[in-house]
Amino acid sequence: MVEDVVVVGPYVDCAYKEQPVQQVFNRRLCKTKSCDLYNTKLPKGSKYCSHCGAEVQLEKKIVNAQTSQDEFLAKVRAELAAINSPLVFPDKQLAKVVKATNHHFWHVKPQKLIKGSAHSDGVVHPVTQDRIASDIDTFKSMFQKEYTILVNAYGVENISLHWGVMVYLPLV
Ligand SMILES: [Zn+2]
Repeated sequence: MVEDVVVVGPYVDCAYKEQPVQQVFNRRLCKTKSCDLYNTKLPKGSKYCSHCGAEVQLEKKIVNAQTSQDEFLAKVRAELAAINSPLVFPDKQLAKVVKATNHHFWHVKPQKLIKGSAHSDGVVHPVTQDRIASDIDTFKSMFQKEYTILVNAYGVENISLHWGVMVYLPLV
């Protein structure tokens, strides 16, 4: 039986915007106007035109591209992994929400309750405004490095900290 993952507590809501990037290509061209290969892209590493023998000229070509959301996430995950961060964003499990909102939700990886732990007899936590405020404060101070990574990736204006409930199925 697969059980839902229920996350209750603070999470960072990050609005994802398409990330424009510029890619620069060096092209090797023959610049002899009378040559049949004039302005034709020559094979990588060639120094002379294979047709007229003129020296190959290098030309930069700048292409505006978009990084895909998957690439973007992989980059953020790699930065978080580099500091051993417990923050996760289950994008596959929350795929529908992400598609509808274009928001990413980073939260502390849920731990499995272990038999014999203090929680095995059941636990009840009333949710109060004070509790929410103190959870958010604790989160802010514990995850300063993560917050900086997320701010750099998404832009400070696209990030907000919330306290809420997230429910999703684990990937099996
Ligand atoms: Zn040529």
